[in-house]
Amino acid sequence: MSEPVSVVGAGIAGTWTALLLAESGRRVTVYERQDEAMTGATSHWAGGMLAPDCEGDGAEPVVIRLGHRSVQLWRSHLPETPLNGSLVVSHPRDRADLERLARQTAGHERIGAARIGEIEPALAGRFREALFYPGEGHVEPRRALPALHAKLRSLGGEIRFGADVRPEALDGTVVDCRGLGAREAQPELRGVKGETVLVETAEIALSRPVRLMHPRWPIYVIPRANNRFLIGASTIETEDAAGVTLRSALELMTAAYTVHPAFGEARIVELGTALRPAYPDHSPRIAVAGRQITVNGLYRHGFLIAPALGELVANYIAEGTRDNEVMRWS
Ligand SMILES: Cc1cc2nc3c(=O)[nH]c(=O)nc-3n(C[C@H](O)[C@H](O)[C@H](O)COP(=O)(O)OP(=O)(O)OC[C@H]3O[C@@H](n4cnc5c(N)ncnc54)[C@H](O)[C@@H]3O)c2cc1C
Repeated sequence: MSEPVSVVGAGIAGTWTALLLAESGRRVTVYERQDEAMTGATSHWAGGMLAPDCEGDGAEPVVIRLGHRSVQLWRSHLPETPLNGSLVVSHPRDRADLERLARQTAGHERIGAARIGEIEPALAGRFREALFYPGEGHVEPRRALPALHAKLRSLGGEIRFGADVRPEALDGTVVDCRGLGAREAQPELRGVKGETVLVETAEIALSRPVRLMHPRWPIYVIPRANNRFLIGASTIETEDAAGVTLRSALELMTAAYTVHPAFGEARIVELGTALRPAYPDHSPRIAVAGRQITVNGLYRHGFLIAPALGELVANYIAEGTRDNEVMRWS
């Protein structure tokens, strides 16, 4: 067996990196400062959309490239991942925004009311047209992370929870995936607040994420297990993640209610807030300094791009393969 590797952080970046390293035959130990519930990780609070095509509206091309590769890796490594597409709808007054999205993104089909009703019966008769992105998917982060951790363990990887470590204090090759926990070492890293509302109702069923064009943020409703739905997410330039504001909660819940009035009777299960780790250019980065490698800046796209980033790290450690768009050396 080749030289062991340490990974710091068991969020989505650290987990995929460790998994692909273990798969390539490395002995991997992951150090995670929280307990197994991981409620302090950004990954715990994410929507979990795998939307490389929709994200063409605003995200850097590198995110789209990594996203498409990642969808393949989700498919091959977690075959139960729902990859049944996503739907974007708009109310008549926001139709111009839907047209703009259609122009700026690829990988969609323009569908009318009848087809909307076929693929999402709960939305029959509610929208005249929509964009359907068949190549997209979604995961439930609070299920996907433990599933990936179990897979890592089955490949011989070890995860030490409750282990708060400094990457530079560890010997050998170290991959630092601390998210915002790395901010002291990386002053250009910042947190961007995202807020969500988790609701429960048996009155409506959806099979895939539904995005609603909205003047301030694209709002989405993602189906979860047990009749739950995650409504998200704000994107606010503040590091005050103390709670969800009344305004955000109102906007998110109103948007869901306009997708379907059944959400008006839904029970609010949880208000969620977390900070997305972002570099100034909103692109992810793999930085290599000798045997210390950092993977960070996953911003709004951690679940979408972590598998491809992990693959780049594993290929670099195995064969020295470089990707100059994502990797930096010092
Ligand atoms: C509301 C919201 C919605 C989102 N929706 C989506 C979405 O739909 N699709 C998508 O792709 N992305 C989404 N994201 C973005 C995604 O959640 C992030 O990009 C991703 O979670 C970042 O993952 P990470 O592993 O870098 O960081 P984290 O998940 O924060 O993991 C870092 C881990 O490192 C640990 N750590 C830190 N310091 C130490 C230390 N010294 N020792 C040991 N462990 C340490 C932390 O405890 C933490 O568990 C969303 C984010 C938010 C906030």
